[in-house]
Amino acid sequence: MVYYVNGGCMKSLGIVRSLDKEGRYSIPKELTRILDIETGDKLRIKLVNGDITIVKVEEMCSFCKSTENLVEIHHKKICKLCLNEF
Ligand SMILES: [Zn+2]
Repeated sequence: MVYYVNGGCMKSLGIVRSLDKEGRYSIPKELTRILDIETGDKLRIKLVNGDITIVKVEEMCSFCKSTENLVEIHHKKICKLCLNEF
């Protein structure tokens, strides 16, 4: 399996996972740390040239999880209310 990190830099972690009885794979903890994936985060799964790609969907404020009035700073979405607290 091949992982695409940060939308382009390809990195194989050498981790092998088996499909479980419910048809699921778990994402290695190392990868969730690299991509800052937390419980409840949404992922977009694509099939590209026979490879599965998984991309984190960041459409909510990284701090309060609001989905309104978002701005992007250093590839993170932040709502204007949280931005004003800095
Ligand atoms: Zn916020």
